[in-house]
Amino acid sequence: MHTPTPGPEPRSQPGPQPRTAAWRRGTPGRPGSARAGRLREHLRLGRKGLAIGVDIGGTKVAAGVVDAEGRILREARRSTPGNDPRAVEQVIVELVEELGRGHRIWSVGIGAAGWMDLDGATVLFSPHLAWRNEPLRDNLQRLLRRPVLLTNDADAAGWAEWRFGAGRGESRLVCITLGTGIGGAMVMDGRLERGRFGVAGEFGHQIIMPGGHRCECGNRGCWEQYASGNALGREARELASANSPVAQELLKAVDGRADLITGVIVTELAKAGNATARELLEDVGEWLGLGLANLAAALDPGTFVIGGGLCDAGELLVAPARKAFARNLTGRGFRPAAGIELAALGPNAGLIGAADLSRVSSRMHS
Ligand SMILES: [Zn+2]
Repeated sequence: MHTPTPGPEPRSQPGPQPRTAAWRRGTPGRPGSARAGRLREHLRLGRKGLAIGVDIGGTKVAAGVVDAEGRILREARRSTPGNDPRAVEQVIVELVEELGRGHRIWSVGIGAAGWMDLDGATVLFSPHLAWRNEPLRDNLQRLLRRPVLLTNDADAAGWAEWRFGAGRGESRLVCITLGTGIGGAMVMDGRLERGRFGVAGEFGHQIIMPGGHRCECGNRGCWEQYASGNALGREARELASANSPVAQELLKAVDGRADLITGVIVTELAKAGNATARELLEDVGEWLGLGLANLAAALDPGTFVIGGGLCDAGELLVAPARKAFARNLTGRGFRPAAGIELAALGPNAGLIGAADLSRVSSRMHS
């Protein structure tokens, strides 16, 4: 479990900004009135209070009580119960009840792969679950009797890295989550940038190799087919199936079954010093750096934070990415270049960010 220690105040942290102007429309009440007093108490609790973050993955649901400094006070997890929306809601309710015992919980944030509408109320589409235009927030608010926010899991992780992790205080931050695919998030001037319809940041589906490997999105040659954990596993399986002598160690690790090689296995071998596994990671790192250079041309961030499971490889992945980034950056030599940093919060970034976003958002809409 990662428990970030409270560090110094972020550099020039502008503070979380409201995503809508709804809070401005509220009438706070005359100073000294009972309504103004209630509102002040409400805001004070919101700033200091605890929130529960829930990260729904394809195989497990992880949840935690998170304080205002991003520390996890208590955690619990369950298996994802198939893809029936009601069963998933039930698991969320059980986790919140279990974790909330003895704590005063302000709000609940739910992070999941997929697209949420801009209000954080409806899941438009989720790849792992059967949610299609599902009004999940209202269902859960009814069951939990607390403010609930839905957010994309990569957005949640990016927000957490900006608030408490490797991107703290960066005014133009792009976060990349490398897992089976690629997730993306942008925090610009203290706001999560989600585009016009709430679906920005799908960087993994920029086409980087026209006519290349088929992607589950339906296109060919998407970045995530070259710079993800899945890409690493696929390349390693291909190499092992070619009966190349350089793949002997890889095959030994899976008792000769090339089809059992995964990105995780390659990463472990690379960390143990295997030269072929390191080469495979270097290739993925180069694709990563090339895609980051494309993003820098479009977005000009100050920092890229790279997170997700593939980051277990650490510098074995990021060093070649930095090199390819510098080699492919538009206008190189005549412009400042963004830093490329490893994420600081580990696999809990998603639930920390979902909790924090729910607290920030409920404060603004209350
Ligand atoms: Zn794609």
